[in-house]
Amino acid sequence: MTDATKTRGKQGADLHPVARLPDDWAAWLHEQGERSFRAGQIFRWIHQRGVFEPQQMSDLSKPLRQALSDAGVVAPMSVEQVLRSADGTRKLLMRLSDGSAVECVLIPMTNEDDADVACVDPDGDDDETAASPEQASLPKKPVTLCVSTQVGCAMACAFCASGRAGLTRGLGAAEIVTQVLLSRGYVDADEQLRNLVFMGMGEPLHHYDETVRALRLITHQDGLGMSPRRITVSTVGLAPNIGRLGSDFDGKIGLAVSLHAPNDAVRNAIMPINRRFDIAELLGALRAYPLPKRRRITIEYTLIDGLNDSPEHAHELAVLLTGLRVKVNLIPMNPVDGADMRAPSPRAVDAFRAVLASRRVSCSVRKRRGDDVDAACGQLALKRQGGANPIPAERVLRRG
Ligand code: SAH
Repeated sequence: MTDATKTRGKQGADLHPVARLPDDWAAWLHEQGERSFRAGQIFRWIHQRGVFEPQQMSDLSKPLRQALSDAGVVAPMSVEQVLRSADGTRKLLMRLSDGSAVECVLIPMTNEDDADVACVDPDGDDDETAASPEQASLPKKPVTLCVSTQVGCAMACAFCASGRAGLTRGLGAAEIVTQVLLSRGYVDADEQLRNLVFMGMGEPLHHYDETVRALRLITHQDGLGMSPRRITVSTVGLAPNIGRLGSDFDGKIGLAVSLHAPNDAVRNAIMPINRRFDIAELLGALRAYPLPKRRRITIEYTLIDGLNDSPEHAHELAVLLTGLRVKVNLIPMNPVDGADMRAPSPRAVDAFRAVLASRRVSCSVRKRRGDDVDAACGQLALKRQGGANPIPAERVLRRG
């Protein structure tokens, strides 16, 4: 199968040049009367070296460089601001060409987090987590990058800042991959970009085709070449698209699901999407996900005081998850402007965790990172938001 047939959605001229896979470049070169082997060269300049300026692509002829400039080869965004937290977390504000903006976050990892993010079964001997001999002699600190997939969000979860103003627009694949390419410039010399999580602003499975194309670009051997196992897509639970993601990537992309409730009554109260895809439908999609051996699906569960955090809720959750290969990641709710909800006490968090542990549900509590720069989960809200006319949630949530 060619790159292009593996990826649906926009084709040819509609595609931003940075979103083109080598096969798309080969087709474009053919139209220009150029040799198709240049496709790999162009792709590597952009996606391996992060060079967006055709005049710097020194092994291409001058006329081809000019043709690339004329075709609009240019970075779709630039880094406007970097905020560095006391814990080393870096929040990057990126300005898009239409004036709107997104944020992404670089997060230094501890060993414990590393297993969390990559959803690696701690009991398994996953070969990809073993350090190669070079890595052993030159240990670099692993960093996770959290990217956004939309400007705003349509999902309107009650506890999340990103959806407060609704959805402005989805990001194109070029804008998603460029977050990774530009963020590499802010990884310290003693660090290594190891994991990628689609957990920033927006719902990655809402604009499915763009997310899939971004994943194809990021994992392509001639580009960033990231292993799909090091990438986790987090979703509010768009069940049909979980199924598509599973079959499009043979289950190799890590999956995280924002469950946040042990029953439909609680979930309906905090996540409008549950009225469209309820817990039974969501869990059905998780059971069908073609999970490779030794991998687990991450269940994200934001703990909110008095709402979903009682020991009874924990028991109910354990029953719900019976038979699923999952790991629960508890996230004490981070403060969000205008939400009259808050995290439970540390004691209540620990009691919840203890119930899950007693029922042999694998579980961890997510450490809070970067909250002094509003970079923690659910805090990406773009206080100085560009772009206009947010799309109200109801328009996107209607069935059909
Ligand atoms: N739309 C995707 C990814 C976005 S957010 C999704 O819903 O999964 C990444 C995680 O942060 C989600 O689990 C989300 O529910 C959680 N989150 C949102 N607001 C939060 C808050 N205020 N405190 C803690 N976690 C939050």
